[in-house]
Amino acid sequence: MVMVEVPEYEISGKVEISSKETALIIVDMQNDFAHPDGKLFVPSARNIIPKIKELLDRARAAGVKVIYTQDWHMKDDPEFKIWGEHAVANTWGAEIVEELKPLESDILIKKLRYDAFFGTPLDHILRIYGIRNLVITGTVANICVLHTAGSAALLGYKVIVPIDAIAALNDFDYHASLRQISFLYRGILTKVENILFK
Ligand code: ZN
Repeated sequence: MVMVEVPEYEISGKVEISSKETALIIVDMQNDFAHPDGKLFVPSARNIIPKIKELLDRARAAGVKVIYTQDWHMKDDPEFKIWGEHAVANTWGAEIVEELKPLESDILIKKLRYDAFFGTPLDHILRIYGIRNLVITGTVANICVLHTAGSAALLGYKVIVPIDAIAALNDFDYHASLRQISFLYRGILTKVENILFK
């Protein structure tokens, strides 16, 4: 085994952001990833559900746009060569977990690939609403969260990631994601309790 040191990254204290110009993005909190019976269950995804819920309730109360992404695959999607079958369109596994059930007024983005911007109308929708800041939560940290955060930053959005509201399969993946978000994409890392919508 190769041992590596995790380079330092900064965790910010209070982050105040405009409710009008911010969207909360909940990445792939679907049964296949976040329910114990799911096909690609990420155990730590259970721990972030209450954290996301807390942020979700505050975001809704503040009038922040809420956007859910859903991995949404065809039956013979080439991605299954890597991961096996998961998040097949219109199945239980592709639904958002019960605890974080979307409201009618929320926006759902169905995506074929890791990146929620790739081949989806997400950027267009955010621009229509004048959104400039994205609070990104969910699973899996180094896969769909990181790719979405990366694209968001490259498109000029300010990225805020609460480190207690993203889940990975192991520590390496988790810290590597935070390091990339912070160093490469200049995203702000903080905790759920420090995010203030105003
Ligand atoms: Zn997938």
